[in-house]
Amino acid sequence: MKQPDNPLHDAHASLAAFDGEQLMADLDALGAIGREAGRGLQRMAYSDADLAARQWVQAQMQALGMGATLDAAGNVVGYLPGSEALPALALGSHTDSVPGGGAFDGALGVLAALACVRTLRSQGVKLRHPLLLLNFAAEEATTAASPLGSLSFTGRLTAEALDGPAWHGGSTRALLTERGFDSDALVANHPPLPLAAFLELHIEQGDQLLSPRTPIGVVEGIVGIRRYYVTFEGQANHAGTTRMERRRDALVAAAPFITTVRDVAVAHGIVGTIGRIDVQPGAPNVIPGHVTLDVEIRDMANTTLDRAEQALHDAAAASGAQMVHGHCKEPTPADPRLMAAIERACVRLDLPHRALPSGAGHDAMNMAALCPYAMIFVPSEGGISHAPDEFTLAAECIAGGRVLLATLLDLDEGV
Ligand SMILES: [Zn+2]
Repeated sequence: MKQPDNPLHDAHASLAAFDGEQLMADLDALGAIGREAGRGLQRMAYSDADLAARQWVQAQMQALGMGATLDAAGNVVGYLPGSEALPALALGSHTDSVPGGGAFDGALGVLAALACVRTLRSQGVKLRHPLLLLNFAAEEATTAASPLGSLSFTGRLTAEALDGPAWHGGSTRALLTERGFDSDALVANHPPLPLAAFLELHIEQGDQLLSPRTPIGVVEGIVGIRRYYVTFEGQANHAGTTRMERRRDALVAAAPFITTVRDVAVAHGIVGTIGRIDVQPGAPNVIPGHVTLDVEIRDMANTTLDRAEQALHDAAAASGAQMVHGHCKEPTPADPRLMAAIERACVRLDLPHRALPSGAGHDAMNMAALCPYAMIFVPSEGGISHAPDEFTLAAECIAGGRVLLATLLDLDEGV
C-alpha cells in the first residue's frame, strides 16, 4: 500500500474530516436506548437495555467494516488491522449506566472512538498499529467487582468476586447466568492482542474544568481510595428513663468525628467522606450503644493520604474510638508519554487544556494493568453526572473526539 508522502498533512485532513454532527446524532440514538420518561437512563449492567445498547454499538462497528465480536463478559471488541506487526492501540469506554443515569457517561468515549474509526475510513487512512475499539460491559458499580467488564477483559477477575450482589437483588453470578453468560468464561477471559496503549475519553463528572472553563482535561491519574471503619462504644439503655448526665451515647461521641473528617480533608487538600453510619441497636427508644462510621479518603498522592490517615488515627484515638482499615485502592497514574501526546493534540487543535486527577474510577484503571493508559476529560455542566440532567456541550463533546483522534494519530506515528 502506498504510504502518504506527508503524514502530518494527512493528519490535518483527518482532523478536519472528523464528523462531529454524526457523533452527536449517535449520542442521541444510543441515549434513547433504555431511557425512561422522567427516570433517565435505566441501562444497568446486563439488563435488556444494556445488552441492546452494546448490540447497537456492535452494529455500528460492523457498518464501518470493523471486525466486532462480543467476548465472554459481553464487552464489544471492535478490530481494525494495522499495516505493521505491532501491538494494538485501544480506545474505548462503557455504555452501561447507573439507575437514573445520563447519556454522556461512558457513551461519549465509545461513540467518539467510533467517530475516530469513521474518520479513518472516510479518509482512507490505515494505521500502522492494529486498533481495538472496546465497549466495556458493567463499568458502573451495579455489580460486584466493578468495573467488571474491563476486569474480565484484562484477565484479573476472580470467581469469588462474582459472589457479591448485583443491582437486581441476587448475586452477580446469578445475574450473569440468567443473561446467558458463563461466569467461568468471564474469569478465564483475556485480551485478544498485546496492547501498546489505551486511551479513554470521558466526561469529567466533577466541576474542575468549569472554573476557569477549559474544554479539555488531561487526566494525571485515577485517585487512590482508602476506607476505614471507625467504631465508638457507648452503653445502650432506655431512652426514656436514663437521665442525660448518666448516658454513654455512642452517637454523641461520634458526632465531632464527622466534622473532623471534613476538616482533615480540607487541611490536606483531599476529599473525605462519611457515607454510611451504623447505629446499634438502632431504635428510637434506645440510646445508641455502638456506632460505626464508614470513612473514605481519596487523592492521587500516597504521601498526602498517609498524612491524612495519621491525622484521622490521632483524632479517633483521642476520642476513644477504634479505627480499622478497610478497602484500599492504590492511585493509578496515567502514562506521562501518553499525556504528552494528548497535550500535543490540544496544541495542534488550538484547544485550551489542563491536567487534573480523576476522582472517579474508570475502565482505564483496569487497563493500566495491561498497558500504558491516559484519559481525556471534557466538562460536565454543573459538575453533574450519574443523573438524568448530566450534560456536556456539543462543541466540547466534539472537541474531545478530535483530541482523541489527534492523539491516536500521534501515537500511531510514535509508539
Ligand atoms: Zn463512566
